[in-house]
Amino acid sequence: MIATSTPVQTLSLADKVRADFPILTQKVHDRPLVYLDSAATSQKPQVVIDALSDYYQRYNSNVHRGVHTLSGLATDAYEAARQKVAKFVNAADEREIIYTRNATEAINLVAYSWGLGNLQAGDEVILTKMEHHSNLVPWQLVAQKTGAVLKFVDLSADENFDLAHYKSLLSAKTKLVSVVHVSNTLGSVTPVKEVIALAHAQGTKVLIDACQSAPHMPLDVQDMDCDWLVASGHKMCAPTGIGFLYGKLELMRSMQPFFGGGEMIADVFFDHSTYADLPHKFEAGTPSIGEAIALGAAIDYLTNIGMAEIHAYEQELSVYLYQQLAKIPQIRTYGPKSHRAALAAFTAGEVHPHDLSTMLDQSGIAIRAGHHCTQPLHRELKAQSTARASLYFYNTKAEIDQFIVALKESIDFFAEIFA
Ligand SMILES: *Cc1c(COP(=O)(O)O)cnc(C)c1O
Repeated sequence: MIATSTPVQTLSLADKVRADFPILTQKVHDRPLVYLDSAATSQKPQVVIDALSDYYQRYNSNVHRGVHTLSGLATDAYEAARQKVAKFVNAADEREIIYTRNATEAINLVAYSWGLGNLQAGDEVILTKMEHHSNLVPWQLVAQKTGAVLKFVDLSADENFDLAHYKSLLSAKTKLVSVVHVSNTLGSVTPVKEVIALAHAQGTKVLIDACQSAPHMPLDVQDMDCDWLVASGHKMCAPTGIGFLYGKLELMRSMQPFFGGGEMIADVFFDHSTYADLPHKFEAGTPSIGEAIALGAAIDYLTNIGMAEIHAYEQELSVYLYQQLAKIPQIRTYGPKSHRAALAAFTAGEVHPHDLSTMLDQSGIAIRAGHHCTQPLHRELKAQSTARASLYFYNTKAEIDQFIVALKESIDFFAEIFA
């Protein structure tokens, strides 16, 4: 027999990192798990799981309160993680990083602290029609209390951020612009630098919802020049229960505390209190200590791979995903035709997205179906709900192939039922 030489194949990023994620080796319904729901929450590498259990096994203790050894270890690790977050987004000062439970809490912090203190009747807040409910409902609540008016940037004809419409909405009345960086439904990328520069020219503050960008691409808050930026740890390889708010130092100093309690005070009297300096002023009560430390471990993990490398690989996956979806005639995808994240929301004619998702689950494939917390956007798109496949750097093209095969089978199955 003649030995055939196997062609030299370069390993993809996913091939290199796959083994770091213990959950990905399991079977679901007797089929290898294909996890395509990372936009809802990402999986966690072993180093992050270890960092969390290491904290509980070796040095569980409250932070900033004790002089004993364990408390010192916990405080050091907790603050070291803050430095990692600061470096990750290139903040000028680590006091500009406030830990929160998640991005939702970070947005509420800005809405209640800055919004209630600074917005007045007739002031305008610009959002987009593709905002996640977390960057919409807090502003509705604050608008109801202050009389501020919410304005919404339209979708362009290609289902992207409409820059011209944004420019037409901006005026001297605009006090705040709060926009999603990467849409969790359309995969579109908002031109944030331009959005921010235009707002600042009017003296308008800008908040960036980086939930779907922080896990997937390099971020630089100084270059971007945003006033605030929020993200959730659980979408970037960290545990649930930890997220962060970046805010410019002087701006954050000018804001009133959101929650009051322990940790955030300087001196407390019966009738009033003085507050701690940043960042503690906004971190009332015992924080998610182990989760913050594990977020630091997640950032180390991502940084070791390289955010530029992650982004480049995911761009490749995105192109491949959309190419394969385009070959299925019944599929309608949403969002722009280029420069999009590695996620695709889609519908398949009359087939209900929930039915598709349930069928795919039988093949071990995890995708999401519903409105993905962007119900107003779905109304704009005239879709009750969509199915969504969302990828991360641990996904392979082979998984996309498996997904596409199972998707076609499901569509054919339902076609026969409807026929
Ligand atoms: C997930 C997500 C949020 C909310 O994140 P939580 O972790 O639920 O607070 C906000 N905006 C976008 C774009 C998201 O994808």
